[in-house]
Amino acid sequence: MIQLIRGFKDILPEETPLWRHIERTATALFEDFGFREIRVPIMEKTDLFARSIGEETDIVEKEMYTFPDRKGDLITLRPEATASIVRSFVQHKLYAQKPVHKLYTIGPMFRRERPQKGRYRQFYQIDAEIFGDGSPYEDAQLIFMLVTLLERLSVTDTSAHINSLGCPACRPDFKAGLQAFLADKGQVLCEDCLRRRENNPLRVLDCKVPACRDAVADAPDLLDYLCDDCRNHFDTVQRALADLGVPFEVDKRLVRGLDYYTRTAFEIQTGALGAQSAVAGGGRYDGLVRALGGPDQPASGFAIGFDRLAEIVAMVQNDLQRPPALFVAALGEACRAAAFDWVCRLAVAGVNAEMSTTERSLKSQMKQAHRLGAPRVLIFGDDEMARGEAMLRDMATKEQQALPLEGIVETLQTILMAK
Ligand code: ATP
Ligand code: MG
Repeated sequence: MIQLIRGFKDILPEETPLWRHIERTATALFEDFGFREIRVPIMEKTDLFARSIGEETDIVEKEMYTFPDRKGDLITLRPEATASIVRSFVQHKLYAQKPVHKLYTIGPMFRRERPQKGRYRQFYQIDAEIFGDGSPYEDAQLIFMLVTLLERLSVTDTSAHINSLGCPACRPDFKAGLQAFLADKGQVLCEDCLRRRENNPLRVLDCKVPACRDAVADAPDLLDYLCDDCRNHFDTVQRALADLGVPFEVDKRLVRGLDYYTRTAFEIQTGALGAQSAVAGGGRYDGLVRALGGPDQPASGFAIGFDRLAEIVAMVQNDLQRPPALFVAALGEACRAAAFDWVCRLAVAGVNAEMSTTERSLKSQMKQAHRLGAPRVLIFGDDEMARGEAMLRDMATKEQQALPLEGIVETLQTILMAK
């Protein structure tokens, strides 16, 4: 038997109603906030990700699915969606159409990490981006929208963590301060952090190795280094969130290691998932559009881990299965032929009815109806046919009702759609 690739997974029919429920809830909400859907390819030139995510990151260093295509060009299965959306935004000069673009996309991402619960090699993200004017209200709106989505999905036990990463004017001072602080920590830092200390010291702050966490407990605080513009920006984000009644926590360990990530960074964490506590992450990246060949265009966005979200929502919502509205238990070929016609016409009318397409005893058909969870069964055998009727049985109350064959599809439609 051929099995699927390690770290990949199937989303089975019993799970897809939940996935669709999440998708519909998200898209309806996003559209109400003025976001429009964009669909971008799942493969791009490797350079796009190397340049946008940055060489000095886990994703680019060790997680990308990169291979030469048949002509030798290096291509990569996308590890995230922002890079492709920015590429598309620049390539199609969307910025020339109108000043603000709010975009979302939903789809699979690929990262070759160690598979475990909540961590897959193909996983899904719900992604939203605002290409706007750089206002702190854009960040507040993204966070508010995210928190509202979780509320609508009945996900509680979440907390919003926010931080500011400063800007090219003030971050270099912080970097220098942090490097000075880390200078004598060579004994305790992990190997990765020793390298990060030189190239990308901010990333030492979010290392998950316990010794590194201890080592940076007293590290300088980025917020103490913010320039006036960045401080005002962050203050406004916080005030807007407070006004909207969104609880949040300022978390100085929340960083992004890339130069064009600026100002607001945020993450939604949950207690529901054990170690993989981040359901969504995002932030402002005012420098990226320009770095990818576009104009000076501030932008901000987030990505929700769909798989993790689905795992949480599954704990609170398990009534999404849709059983058929009716099972038709037909006995004998003539009755089965009539039943087949009804079942197909009911489907066209928006009513899902099921039947057995092969000969089976009434008992076994009733069992099948029960297993499918059909609330009603229509019994149709020679006796019923002779009387010009079929017997509709309510599976819960066991009450039976004779329906005339004349116009039976319409009659069933009325009865079944009423409920
Ligand atoms: P983590 O710290 O968990 O590795 P990350 O910082 O790599 O997360 P982002 O790149 O910010 O994650 O992606 C946004 C969200 O996508 C995460 O908060 C998480 O919910 C989800 N996610 C990231 N990687 C995976 C994965 N391999 N499998 C499932 N979900 C993932
Ligand atoms: Mg990761």
